[in-house]
Amino acid sequence: MIGEVIKRLNGELPATVKLVAVSKFHPFEAIQEAYEAGQRIFAESRPQELLAKVRRLEEIRIERGEPDYMSDIEWHFIGHLQTNKLKMVLPYVSLVQSVDSIRLLEAIDNWGAANGKVINVLLECFISSDETKQGLSERELTDIFSGEKTYRNVRICGLMGMATFTDNEDVIRGDFQHLLDMQQILHDWIGESANVPSECNELSFGMSDDYPIAVEMGSTMVRIGSMIFGSRLY
Ligand SMILES: *Cc1c(COP(=O)(O)O)cnc(C)c1O
Repeated sequence: MIGEVIKRLNGELPATVKLVAVSKFHPFEAIQEAYEAGQRIFAESRPQELLAKVRRLEEIRIERGEPDYMSDIEWHFIGHLQTNKLKMVLPYVSLVQSVDSIRLLEAIDNWGAANGKVINVLLECFISSDETKQGLSERELTDIFSGEKTYRNVRICGLMGMATFTDNEDVIRGDFQHLLDMQQILHDWIGESANVPSECNELSFGMSDDYPIAVEMGSTMVRIGSMIFGSRLY
């Protein structure tokens, strides 16, 4: 079942769009099933849960006597990240998609400097009309790009956004267009800002209910959870 959805999505998505399987609230066995169907990128939204899954995989490797089992799995972090939880997340992930404040960006940069690493991130932009959602404003993006401060231990790979929770397709398209407008701000800084590398092209938008619209509008990364793993029991 999980494997079939993965295969169907991979058949359907253009080659330019990466599939990120959002495994939050689902057991490690579900991740294994998706992995066996060829899925490699998984995303979690809570530090404790990510860490538990990383440790579960280590245990399974020992149980199986296969140190390389699932060694090419990639973890992304997509939830709100508190600065006191960085060490639970940053050692294990290849991308933090949810940098939603300048304070967090600075904290990740400092952690990277202290640990001799460069952390790949996406800047999460506030594009929805849901007040509960997080993200940077256009003003804050501009502050990051135009500021004096250079983030040497962070690589900004692009932007991430989440549309308003609604069935209204026009509202969703409007939110996604807002993200494209914010990408234009970023592109204007390529070559001008030390914080914007030239290959800063990732645009992570689209989830189970709105990914076809996102793909049509130029997403490079869709984050799909419930469609693959079923509904979540919170
Ligand atoms: C949970 C979550 C998703 C996946 O949502 P689905 O509707 O289950 O596909 C995508 N992005 C973020 C940031 C999430 O927290």
